[in-house]
Order: sequence, then C-alpha cells, then structure tokens
Amino acid sequence: MNRETELVRGGTPPLDHATIHPYVDAIPGPFFYQRTAHPVGAEAERVLGELDGGHALLFSSGTGATTALLLAMLKPGATVAVAAGGYYGTVALMRELAGWGLEVEEFDQTGEPPVADLVWLEPCANPMMTFPDLDVAIGQAHEAGAVVVVDNTVLSPMLLRPLEHGADFVLHSATKILAGHHDALLGVVICARAEDHARLHSFRTTSGIVAAPDPAWLMLRGLKTLAVRVERQSVTALELARRLSGHPAVERVRYPGLGDPIAEQYVDAFGPLLSFDVADEHTAARVERGLKLIENATSLGGVASTLEARARWEPERVPPGLLRLSVGLEDVEDLWADLARALEG
Ligand code: PLP
Repeated sequence: MNRETELVRGGTPPLDHATIHPYVDAIPGPFFYQRTAHPVGAEAERVLGELDGGHALLFSSGTGATTALLLAMLKPGATVAVAAGGYYGTVALMRELAGWGLEVEEFDQTGEPPVADLVWLEPCANPMMTFPDLDVAIGQAHEAGAVVVVDNTVLSPMLLRPLEHGADFVLHSATKILAGHHDALLGVVICARAEDHARLHSFRTTSGIVAAPDPAWLMLRGLKTLAVRVERQSVTALELARRLSGHPAVERVRYPGLGDPIAEQYVDAFGPLLSFDVADEHTAARVERGLKLIENATSLGGVASTLEARARWEPERVPPGLLRLSVGLEDVEDLWADLARALEG
C-alpha cells in the first residue's frame, strides 16, 4: 500500500492510561511501567519509524527530544555546530548545557559545517528559512567525524526523509505538523541505527523525558490527515508567498518555494512555513494587531494559520520586522484578504 493509504487506514489504539501492566508468570512485559513504554506510544513509534525509515522514540516535547539526544549521545566537552537561523530554543538549550560541558557554534548551513562532534541541520530553518545542501553537508560532516541530526519539523516525512540522505538522526517537534491541531505537545527522534535507538531508549527511561499516552494518541489521529494537510498547506503557502512578494509593504519573502535551487533538489513542495520582512518592529506589531482570521500566536504546522513577530522572542537573531506565518487549511482568498488588510493598516 501507498504510505498515504497506510496512514489513513492504520488503526488508532485504545487510549490506555494505565501506568502499570501486570507481570505474566512473574515476567514483566514490555508495558510493565509507563516510563519505559506504553501501548499508544509503541504504536505511534511504529508508524513514525515507518514514515521516516528508521527506529522512532517519542519524548515529552521536541525540546525534550533534543535534550535526550544531546545528553545521551554526547559527553561533556563535546562540540556542536548548529544551523544559524533555525529554531532558537535549540540553540538556547545548547547554550544552557554549557555548564554541563557542551560547546556550541552557530554556522551558515548553506555552506560547509565546521568541525564538531555533532552537526545540527534544519531544512526550511524556523524562522530564517535557509535550506542546506543535505547530501553535501552530511557528507562533509561525516568525513570530519561528526554525527548528524536533521530537525525535520517544518517539512515532515511527507516531503523529506533525511535518513535517506545519510543523517544519523531525525528530530521532529511532533507538536507541530505531525499532530497538526495545536492540541498535543510531544517530540520524536528517529534513529538510523538500532544501537543508537537502544541507547536513547535507555536514557529516556532513566531521565523520564517521556510522552504521555494522550498526546501520542492525538498525534496518531492527526497523522491520518498528514498527507492531505501538508499538500494543501504547501500549495496555499506558495501562493501567499508569491502574493506577499508583490506587496509594497513587504520588503522580502523567505520561502524556499520561491526558487531556492538547493531546496528544489530535495523537495517537491515546501511546507506550511514562510517568513516575510516588513519595515520595522512597529509595522510588524501593527500587522499582528490588524489580523482578524489568522491567529496572532506562536507555533506552526496546525490546521489554523498562525502569525507572529519573531523579534519578540529572538531580537538578536532576526531582523526587527520579521513576521513568521504558518499556513493552515483556511481558504487562500480568506487568508490573503486578512493579510492584505493587516498590511495596509
Ligand atoms: N524544532 C523546531 C523546528 C521547532 O519549531 C520547535 C518548536 O517550536 C522545536 C524544535 C521544539 O519543539 P517543542 O515546542 O515541541 O518542544
């Protein structure tokens, strides 16, 4: 069966909240204690592992997944090279771990990665929307002895499967497009190798950075519509990116679908996320206040469109007038009318 059919026809397991399952003949089963594994999580991991082509593990959030990956796979004194212009929380966490002995360097992921123990890439980087030449960058990183993680939150496995390009790990904030409805917080790591999966599973159990059954169940239900959501959101996002490019109040649109030759080598559609620059932070705030349909909210990848001025959270890392738009499933003309009105003030 085609992957899309499998996602739609796959079952959703009963929402089992039990933290314990009794031993059978004095032998603990795989779900003997929820911190180690639970039935809903195991089914979610099976589906996500198949989608990305590796061994999946759920965590309490995307950030929890990052924490586990860094602490389990690295040792104090390790160096990490992380894509500049990507998710600011990833860099904030890495800097937080300086006390533990992590050294962090941000680099331009459209060029060669610096020498490091771990290289962190983010195609369609949130929010600067840069796109690495994955085959080249992963090859260079491996040659220099690094392990490579690709944060594929924005594109999802429907558009890009980084393990096929040689990545060692894929990470998703499943809070975003995988769950897709802004009602579940969780993260996932997909490991290329079974031994890394075993190490990470052991760390997850000892650290307790686990996903509860409810968000895992909501994500499983969300996955049934993943393919159709990603397709529609990508079409609408591209159309809005084109229209925004022609708007006099917009100085620059950042969307790889507008002709990024590297991104075009790797994906056929470019996902729900785009950023655009208006003159300054006052104009950005005016646009936020002027919206009536699009939610002025954080996060991305949901069925409802969201927009926010990113300088609020990361003033040192983005231009003051940068607005990030995550395109949902609303009608494109309704979205454009809302944007155009907000831009005109
Ligand atoms: N990676 C990316 C690209 C994100 O956008 C986010 C959240 O915004 C995360 C990771 C962290 O995910 P979570 O909020 O589930 O911890």
